[in-house]
Amino acid sequence: MPAAFLGHGSPMNALDRNRFTEAWRAFGAEVPRPRGILAVSAHWYINATAVTAMPAPRTIHDFYGFPEELFAVRYPAPGDPELAAEVADLLQPTRVGIDTDSWGIDHGTWSLLVHAFPDADIPVVQLAINATKPFEYHLELGAKLAPLRDSGVLIVASGNVVHNLRRIAWEMPDAAFDWARSFGAEVGAIMTSSPANVTRLEEHEQFALAAPTPDHFIPLLYLAGLASASDEKAQTLVDGYAMGSLSMACYTLGCGSIEFDARLGSPALPDMPGDETNI
Ligand code: ZN
Repeated sequence: MPAAFLGHGSPMNALDRNRFTEAWRAFGAEVPRPRGILAVSAHWYINATAVTAMPAPRTIHDFYGFPEELFAVRYPAPGDPELAAEVADLLQPTRVGIDTDSWGIDHGTWSLLVHAFPDADIPVVQLAINATKPFEYHLELGAKLAPLRDSGVLIVASGNVVHNLRRIAWEMPDAAFDWARSFGAEVGAIMTSSPANVTRLEEHEQFALAAPTPDHFIPLLYLAGLASASDEKAQTLVDGYAMGSLSMACYTLGCGSIEFDARLGSPALPDMPGDETNI
């Protein structure tokens, strides 16, 4: 089974069609039908390692300052308590909390899946990002998840390798600052040659600007861990930037180049961006 890190950008991408959403759609169409999806989203960033294990996870609208139509989006995929238990078993001796009632499917996950798997008929389990742990921990956890790929589970990590909301430039919908480009290019070079080395990016001179909080960067470590477990290199599904300080880059494992309509334009922007926008 392939695996992916997808750069989700603004939640408005859920309602939009652009070259990134086309790439996500093409990825979903390319992979064999999974028995379940394990999502590692930047937006479930807590002080524990946990998996969602409710039979019917709710759609979480974990943002504010966006139009009503975005709050109306539902992604009614079932959960999969058995898959959650499998994940917890695989990650032993790491203790994994079994979440039956707190989280669900957040927008880091559903804004992608509404495009990649629009029928919402494949069970979805989320793995939380443990905010208290170093990069190596996440890389190792990613590697430990590798057997799931052999049993038909699609692992999708969702973040943005460059994500600096304080530097967002609304007048640059489809472009990036030089520092963002420089960091993003280095991420791409490493992911496509020696993915396990992504932890070294913490020392990159632009790291503090690219990932002032590490929540959107860490999901990449899960794909890098999966890659290292099977000695694979990642492929770039699509590359690009939004609003100056967001990378929309997406990487895959286990699929060749995927065709999609790259002529479509810029990623979606919030209609009325405010200072408190949280993406
Ligand atoms: Zn986000």
